[in-house]
Amino acid sequence: MASDRVVISLNCTVCKNKNYYQQRSQKKKEFKVEVKKFCKKCGKSVLHKEGKLAKNTNIVKKGR
Ligand SMILES: [Zn+2]
Repeated sequence: MASDRVVISLNCTVCKNKNYYQQRSQKKKEFKVEVKKFCKKCGKSVLHKEGKLAKNTNIVKKGR
């Protein structure tokens, strides 16, 4: 069964550090995730943008 879920990383727009990971549905491709989150490297809250990851990453829990 093909999964419609992809794992994305949220990259700091300042230092490009991958600080967060989350799953999202592939269908919602119309917009890119942009959130303001805290970056440890920058030491402050900065805008994070979505960057794509491979589908088979070990941070994805295999359901069932
Ligand atoms: Zn940063």
